[in-house]
Amino acid sequence: MDFELKGKAAVVAASSSGLGKAIALELAAEGARVTINARSEANLRRAADEIRSATGAEVLQVTGDLTRKEDVRRLIAETKDRSGSVDILVTNAGGPPAGFFDDFKEDDYRKAVELNLISTIALCRQAVPHMKEAGWGRIVAITSIAAKQPVENLILSNTARAGVLGFMKSLADQVASFGITVNAVCPGYHLTERLRDLASLVAGKEGVSVEEVYARWAASTPMKRIGDPKEFAAAVAFLCSVRASYITGTAIQIDGGVYRGLI
Ligand code: NAD
Repeated sequence: MDFELKGKAAVVAASSSGLGKAIALELAAEGARVTINARSEANLRRAADEIRSATGAEVLQVTGDLTRKEDVRRLIAETKDRSGSVDILVTNAGGPPAGFFDDFKEDDYRKAVELNLISTIALCRQAVPHMKEAGWGRIVAITSIAAKQPVENLILSNTARAGVLGFMKSLADQVASFGITVNAVCPGYHLTERLRDLASLVAGKEGVSVEEVYARWAASTPMKRIGDPKEFAAAVAFLCSVRASYITGTAIQIDGGVYRGLI
C-alpha cells in the first residue's frame, strides 16, 4: 500500500530517541520531510544523521523544550518556513516520574500535566491553523496504555494522559470538516530508554535484575514479548497517511494485547 506520504511535512515532537525517533524514521522512509525535536542538540544531531543516512530524507532539527511555549511555537514556525506547510503533527514528550500517591505533591501533578497534556495542546494550537488553511492534516498523539488502564506505579502518567484523550476527542470533532484527522495511540511495553529506566527502578526496589522485570512484563502481554519501537512506528505512519482518511477521534492501543478492556 502506498501511504502517499511523499513530500509531506511532518513534525515529530520529542524524537531524539525511542518511539518518537522510530516514527520520524518511518515517516522519512515513506518519503516525508521530517522535523525532529528534543532538548539536547547533540542527541538531536545524532538522530538526524541516523535518519538521513538510513533514508536519504530531508531532516530539520529544532532544539527545544516542549514545556516552553516559545520553543513549541518555534518548532512549528521553522517547519512551516522550511516546508511551506505543516501536514502532519505527532505529539510526544518524555514520561513523568514513576511513583504512588504518597510520593507526590501538587506541583508534581502540575509538571506532569505541563509535560504530557499542555505540550500536546500547545503543539496543536500552533499546527492546526496551518492545516486548516491547507484543508488537510494528520495529528497523532502518543499517550500511553495508562490513558485507558491505569498502571500501578504511574499515578502522574495515569492522571495526565486521560486529559490528552479528552482533548484529542474534542479536537477531532472540531477539525474534521477541514480534512484533519486526530487520533491517539497508546503504547504498552516497547524497548526504549524510558522502559529501561522504569525497569531499572522496579528492579532496584525489588532486588531483581532488569531482565527479570522485562520477562515479567513480557509474560503479562498476550504476545509474550516486549514491543519493538518499529512496530509502533508502522501503525503511526499509517494513521498519518492519506489512506487513513476516515479514521478520526480514535485512541488505539499498540501494545501486543496488554490492555484488557473492550473499548
Ligand atoms: P524515551 O525516553 O525513549 O524518549 C523520550 C524522548 O522525548 C527523547 O527524545 C527525549 O529527549 C524527549 N523529551 C523528553 N522530554 C522532553 C521535553 N520536555 N521537550 C522535548 N523533548 C523531550 O521515551 P519513549 O519510550 O520513546 O516514550 C515516549 C512517550 O511514550 C513517553 O511519554 C512515554 O512515557 C510514553 N510511553 C512509552 C512506553 C514504552 O513502552 N516505551 C509505554 C507507555 C508510554
